[in-house]
Amino acid sequence: MIDLRSDTVTKPTPEMRKVMAEAEVGDDVWGDDPSVKALEEKTAEILGMEAAVFMPSGTMTNQVAVRTHTQPGDELLIEQYGHIYGSEAGGAAALSGVSTRLIHGERGMFLKDDLAKMIRTPDEHQPLTTLVCVENTCNRGGGTVWPLQQLRSVVDYSHQQKLNIHMDGARLWNAAVASRTSEAEILKGFDSVSVCFSKGLGAPVGSALAGSKEFIRESRRFRKLFGGAMRQSGVLAAAAHYALDHHRDRLAEDHENAQTLAFGLAEIPGIKLNPKNVETNIIFFELEKVNAFSLAEKLEQHSILVEVVETDLIRVVTNLMVDEKQILIVLETIQSEMSQLI
Ligand SMILES: *Cc1c(COP(=O)(O)O)cnc(C)c1O
Repeated sequence: MIDLRSDTVTKPTPEMRKVMAEAEVGDDVWGDDPSVKALEEKTAEILGMEAAVFMPSGTMTNQVAVRTHTQPGDELLIEQYGHIYGSEAGGAAALSGVSTRLIHGERGMFLKDDLAKMIRTPDEHQPLTTLVCVENTCNRGGGTVWPLQQLRSVVDYSHQQKLNIHMDGARLWNAAVASRTSEAEILKGFDSVSVCFSKGLGAPVGSALAGSKEFIRESRRFRKLFGGAMRQSGVLAAAAHYALDHHRDRLAEDHENAQTLAFGLAEIPGIKLNPKNVETNIIFFELEKVNAFSLAEKLEQHSILVEVVETDLIRVVTNLMVDEKQILIVLETIQSEMSQLI
């Protein structure tokens, strides 16, 4: 199988499994797990934040962040493609009693002026705008990397307006590698960030929420409330720690493979995409005449898996399990299947 549906399909490598098997563990709810503590410290250090807390998923780290930053009745602002808005089962409303107002940006990113228009004037009829969320890279935007200056102007403006700002950095690692900028540099000024170990980094499970010491202390209470405090989770933390140490730099290979794939796909008749918009490991391409489900079905017969997003839109994500040779096979197969389907 060549599985390009997502970078979440990555499986732990033999070396990672060895580290997991040998991890020192304890009851983390009692504060006894040295592997979890080590991961939290290492993560905070890389992100340039005071503290971090380990959780089972990126949905949970995001939702705990929303809960910690807000009060019921507040409103958060996010770009229309935001995962926190569209892919977390309505969590902000259900778990935090918070409404969501959408910013219409471009490829998942927005400008300070787009944000300014959406902040409510303080008046007793309206919800209070208290939180801004940005996603970097933006998944549905096409794995886009926020230009640093644009990000800074949004951060500074949010603080001027007395809003907290959270980054959904599920793929912050990709943004850092692609822009040759450290995670800590990208995060300057952010009040909190959520990062995933279970995507391109290849750990089986886990995410972290990072922020100030006080913010993380409060968020630990909500992690408990949401059911995410775990016991001998050092087994999982060890895998995440290994991924941080060994799989971060290699994301550049996923990005190179995505370039090969994007420029190749752009040449195939009936496929529409601008390869110059592909900045990291995610590629969306449109089909002009062919139904996306039909193409996906044909590809599956050749053991190639892709994600159908809409009837004319497909997503592919390069990842740890797929090498350059396989990318070339994918290109050849899509080319021959397209020529038959058109
Ligand atoms: C995957 C992802 C998450 C978290 O997802 P989980 O599957 O809950 O770990 C959050 N934000 C973005 C942008 C993602 O792609």
